[in-house]
Amino acid sequence: MAGFSGPNLLVAVVVVILLAVHARAADQVLHLDRVTVHATDLPEPDARALAATLAAARDVYTALGFDMPDKITLHVQCGPDHPTRLSTDGHSSVTLSIKSPKALARPAKTGAFHLYGLCHELGHVGMYRTLKERDWMTTPAAEGWAHYVGGVVVDRVHAKHGEALWTPDPYDYRTDGTARLARQLAAKSPDDVTRAAGLWQQLDALLGPEQMPKLFAAWQAAKVDPAKPHGALLAALLSGSDPAKKPALEAWWKSAAPLFVQPRPASDFKPATIDPKLLEPDPVTLKPDDDAPDGKKSIAGGAHARTFATPAPGQWYLRAVHVHAGRYGPAQAPNTQFDLTLCDKDNRPIITWKHPYKLVPRGQSQWLRIETPPTLVPDSFTVTLTFRPTAQSGVFVSLDTSTNGHSLSSPPGAKPAPLAAGDWMLRPDLSRPKAADALSGQQ
Ligand SMILES: [Zn+2]
Repeated sequence: MAGFSGPNLLVAVVVVILLAVHARAADQVLHLDRVTVHATDLPEPDARALAATLAAARDVYTALGFDMPDKITLHVQCGPDHPTRLSTDGHSSVTLSIKSPKALARPAKTGAFHLYGLCHELGHVGMYRTLKERDWMTTPAAEGWAHYVGGVVVDRVHAKHGEALWTPDPYDYRTDGTARLARQLAAKSPDDVTRAAGLWQQLDALLGPEQMPKLFAAWQAAKVDPAKPHGALLAALLSGSDPAKKPALEAWWKSAAPLFVQPRPASDFKPATIDPKLLEPDPVTLKPDDDAPDGKKSIAGGAHARTFATPAPGQWYLRAVHVHAGRYGPAQAPNTQFDLTLCDKDNRPIITWKHPYKLVPRGQSQWLRIETPPTLVPDSFTVTLTFRPTAQSGVFVSLDTSTNGHSLSSPPGAKPAPLAAGDWMLRPDLSRPKAADALSGQQ
């Protein structure tokens, strides 16, 4: 997420990406050591300064033990239509938009901390490339990490390269590093991201040098259950550490967990499947939309969820979900997965199925049918698609405004966030057991 100016500009958990298509008008490509820059209307010296900063920050992260990409891709859009924004795909690319090259001047003149921001975004990369499954982690914890470690890296970059690195407007950027976090922590009531950054700083000091990448690897290996994350996370934290530090780490966990961890409680409704041969052969498709999209959205930090009711009393099994959608991004789909989740009416997950991104056709949105094992649904149930998109790669799901009030933009297990604009174009296929016919003698 955008983090170029630290916690002050952190606006919401859910960032809606309306358009991820780049203007390709004056696209310049600059191939440098460890960084490739794709820029529109940016003077080459500025492109080189951004690349040199990213390369310097990348080298610090590597020295700290993080798994960093060999090559980072930086996309820069520069022009009056581009508000100041910085983001990452969490893997190997960073995207910056600025209104003009003047926006790269020091923060005292612009209010934007670009050099720190680049270091911050690579902090996300350092975490996310290792800790891939992190549904349990709150936004303050994720942003607080990038804020803390970004500051550390700013300091180290300065120690190695000095003021001259930032050629757009050389200045003593040590004020943007850990010194800035110290000032923010000293404030009367620091916000959640600042508090989280302070907690990461405490943990880093407790664990000792270069232990954070190992902790992220241990959390990833722990296969944390989002419904009950605390035990596994604490066990993984303690397992790789010096036993003498156990009391201090337990005390740290007690103070950090309420801010860092968001359990995603599972439904009480237990998943049950059935032999498809026992089901009526032709499923019923629920079609609440008018088949005419009125918009489309890709949601980072959220999901596309719609609630349905079974068409008649009795047992119904989910057979498939149709979604009106189109993939955007590179021609070749990323080697990642999306989730299809069956939830109860309160958005608590019953079961999740993983599917490859390449299942969703690229380009023009169209109906796509995703099969599921025949799975019993409650009378009222929610179907959720979680794509975890970035600005460069994701899926647009179509929106229908002929109805509203049945859809959410929140991921499974999270507090339901109703969608005001309409309903997602999702259609479940349901089947009843054949025995239902025999028992009712009709229908
Ligand atoms: Zn961030």
